[in-house]
Amino acid sequence: MKISVSAILLLLWQITAVAETFPAPRILDAAMHHVRNAADQEWAEYKGAPESTSYLLEFDARASASEQTLRIVQHDVKQLWNIELNDKKLGRLHRDENAIVGFWTVPKSTLIDGQNRLQISTTSKNSDDIRIGDITLYDAAATDVLSECQVTVSVRDMTTGQPTPCRITVLHEGRLMTSGAQSNDQMAVRPGVIYCTGQAEFGLPPGTYEIVAGRGPEYGIDVRKLTVTAAESLTLQFSIEREVATDGFAACDTHVHTLTHSGHGDSTVRERMLTLAGEGIEFPVATDHNVHIDYEELARELGVRDFFTPVIGNEVTTKFGHFNVFPVATADVPIPDYKADNWPDIFASIYGTADVQVAILNHSRDIHSSYRPFGPEHHLAATSTNLDGWDLRANAMEVVNSAAQQTEVMQLVHDWMSQLNAGRRLTPVGCSDSHDVARHFVGQGRTYIRCDDSDPGKINVDAAVDAFVAGRVSIGCGLFADVRVNETAGPGDTVKESEQYHAVVDVRGPSWMEADELEIFVNGQSVRTLKLQVGDRSRAGVKGRFKTQLPISASQDAFVVAVARGPGVRKLYWPIAKPYQPTSPAWTPTFIAVTGAVWIDADGDGRITSAKEYAADICSAVGDSSRVLERLKTFDAAVAVHAAELLMMDSPEKFVSGALREARKNRPDIRAAFETFYDQWQQSQRARAAGTTGL
Ligand SMILES: [Zn+2]
Ligand SMILES: [Zn+2]
Repeated sequence: MKISVSAILLLLWQITAVAETFPAPRILDAAMHHVRNAADQEWAEYKGAPESTSYLLEFDARASASEQTLRIVQHDVKQLWNIELNDKKLGRLHRDENAIVGFWTVPKSTLIDGQNRLQISTTSKNSDDIRIGDITLYDAAATDVLSECQVTVSVRDMTTGQPTPCRITVLHEGRLMTSGAQSNDQMAVRPGVIYCTGQAEFGLPPGTYEIVAGRGPEYGIDVRKLTVTAAESLTLQFSIEREVATDGFAACDTHVHTLTHSGHGDSTVRERMLTLAGEGIEFPVATDHNVHIDYEELARELGVRDFFTPVIGNEVTTKFGHFNVFPVATADVPIPDYKADNWPDIFASIYGTADVQVAILNHSRDIHSSYRPFGPEHHLAATSTNLDGWDLRANAMEVVNSAAQQTEVMQLVHDWMSQLNAGRRLTPVGCSDSHDVARHFVGQGRTYIRCDDSDPGKINVDAAVDAFVAGRVSIGCGLFADVRVNETAGPGDTVKESEQYHAVVDVRGPSWMEADELEIFVNGQSVRTLKLQVGDRSRAGVKGRFKTQLPISASQDAFVVAVARGPGVRKLYWPIAKPYQPTSPAWTPTFIAVTGAVWIDADGDGRITSAKEYAADICSAVGDSSRVLERLKTFDAAVAVHAAELLMMDSPEKFVSGALREARKNRPDIRAAFETFYDQWQQSQRARAAGTTGL
């Protein structure tokens, strides 16, 4: 090998450059400041008035002939905030609510002799409570500042001893710390977050850090605290243990985007491959907006294909709702008609797409293109009635969307159970809707599909899709739950009539999260709430096994759903995101698991009859409201609410003057069903009269 003199000189120069240390950074502002751009409070945790509507700092400096670096700490940034120094734009704050230690390059000749002016501001009209400050200036280029010390991390699976895909989180004083690493085919990098297949190398400034290795909610975490000094190189070995048993369940994310194919967010499709493996997603569905994307080739190229079985899908993004569909036969298949302006045409086009068997109604409480599928102007939540006369031909709906969290975590759970009472067998879905590497990361919300997952790279797609459509799933964000009724029947199964019914529920989650409550629903009505104790834990990964009798009457078929909840982790190695379209500044971060529905043929007629069908039978058999209410006594409130709707449809006047009054003298749950229905009906009438139907 021939080495030229200039190459040797370059090498020597690089060695010197690495060994060199910089003058200590200059602190420009040691304090943190609450800034808000608009009048309304965004989050209740920001008490009191903000200091200002933008951040302004004046400081003395000398003009510099070389590149400098500005370090800024930011919390809770949702809107676009520009950073300007002496009216020159340095860049934007990271659009990420998590606490971040960020670094920005100050090009040469930006600083001037005398007074300099740093301004951070947004033109957004949406209220954004942020905290900002702890600002320092380095007399060195950012690439040098962030490579003074070198850290090499390897992560192994404790069971196999082999390197494992993982997420590495680098924290400084509890905030995501920007490292010197850049994304490549081995690492997907964001401030404080590196997804890799088991080996990562990155630079850091001298300092004290906490590094956390993990792999989604089925694994424990391994945590190290370290202090690195200038020019030091450290090698660290981590091992993480599979704590949560989910054998026989494939971890699926039905809602996965990339910047490459959706045009927004920040994760390239190459980075997506590493994040899927790093979060332990075994069955990812590619759902970019109105395109069919196949991960197969790229997953092979990047060496992660053995960790998951990719599925081609599509987020059919219309002006009347978003619908995730899969499996699509090939990426070349024509896309469904996303320009159709009504559900009948949209669903006809979806199910006309080659191989598609699943249509999921996405984030139905969120507004997109001024349309909210479950807004009162279109939808009666109590009975799941579409007021535009459109039939919801979806066979699944999102109940947990971790990037688009609801303020009230149970809202969509109730919406889903209401659909089941209306006779629509929708599979519940947990998903991430991730467009990003780290901000709203992939796989936080997920759907466990009951199927053979012994080899994650070779999941039988047909079998998994069949199980999904049959509702043999358990979903959630963080926690995992499974339910058995009368020992054998799980979600999606049907139990024959029996003398009595009992449920056994297993609640699981890794050692770094808690479960504190378990609630059992029958036909959408809460029938049991159990407080979980830490003493119920037998080993890491197990939060408890609970057995309970089910109050089920022989006169009415039923479905059983178990919901486990616990405090949402806000620590930055797996933080739950704040609500996407909040309905209140107050919010309680919650991790949740929701089982699919177990069906009980309690009336023994060989089929499952929905609450809506029972109500229709009663109302057609006996017309007048007092006799309907008499008959309702042997049924639950799910039937009552549908009876209320039928009586209302028959005659709004008679409903108000007769049925509603009589219901108020009835059993409390029947009275509540009638009143809830009437409240929602009035709200919908007002919304439609106000012309906010969006149609
Ligand atoms: Zn969407
Ligand atoms: Zn989406």
